Amino acid sequence: MNDRTALVTGANKGIGHHIARLLATEGFTVYVGSRDAGRGTAAAAEIGAGARPLLLDVTDADGVARAAARVDRLDVLVNNAGIAVTLDPPAEATLADFRRTYETNVFGVVAVTNAFLPALRRSDRPRIVNVSSGTASLTWSTGPNPQFTPGNGYGAAYRSAKSALNALTVFYAQTLGAPFKVNALAPGARATDLNPRARAVGGDPEEGARGAVRLALLPDDGPTGGFFSWDGTPVPW
Ligand code: NDP
Repeated sequence: MNDRTALVTGANKGIGHHIARLLATEGFTVYVGSRDAGRGTAAAAEIGAGARPLLLDVTDADGVARAAARVDRLDVLVNNAGIAVTLDPPAEATLADFRRTYETNVFGVVAVTNAFLPALRRSDRPRIVNVSSGTASLTWSTGPNPQFTPGNGYGAAYRSAKSALNALTVFYAQTLGAPFKVNALAPGARATDLNPRARAVGGDPEEGARGAVRLALLPDDGPTGGFFSWDGTPVPW
């Protein structure tokens, strides 16, 4: 199985690092995406066999093109890199907050996905996993669960960027068609640098990562264009 390849963006720490490690355990050659060469090399060394560092800042168009040129065939792309710069509601967030957030969480995903599409098209079983968030669900945002109602949790820039990512997930799934499977993941609240508050609820990052691996390993009759929680249950849009 060592001829199967995966790329995880933002894999030098957090959920992405767990995803990369778990995919390496599954026998993939894993490109450990990192915007910092030193930290990417260290993260790949920590994973060990099968892991290769790949310098990749998803907001750097030239860097994305250089990274894509190094990968001939890709079976799995996990768009995991993400930032949350403010908890503010829309009326208080600045346009700069929105631009910065969208640059990474939306435009970065489009840049990476499109750059790596030629390599993904060389796979007979291409899988794209977009790491979204339960806070992107408009159904949950307007529902009774206080964990997801606006004002509690991440701010408008982050949440709306992840909602846009969900829309793109559907559009990529529809337009790429078979044999692609393109799905979005809500990894759950995980204790990472992005969400230190999740320590209060346990929030094991590896548990969230396993949800990404499940979507990366989907069989040919598996779903596409869906939004799933880390435990595999569908999340309403
Ligand atoms: P972390 O902050 O621990 O990790 C984020 C990763 O993304 C880091 O490796 C970071 O690199 C990288 N990154 C940020 N910007 C860029 C960029 N421009 N180019 C390349 N890499 C970049 O956060 P998490 O592990 O928690 O987050 C991973 C994903 O999970 C994100 O998409 C997040 O939105 C999502 N998520 C997380 C939840 C949680 O509770 N933790 C809940 C729901 C979704 P660097 O180290 O250089 O900053």
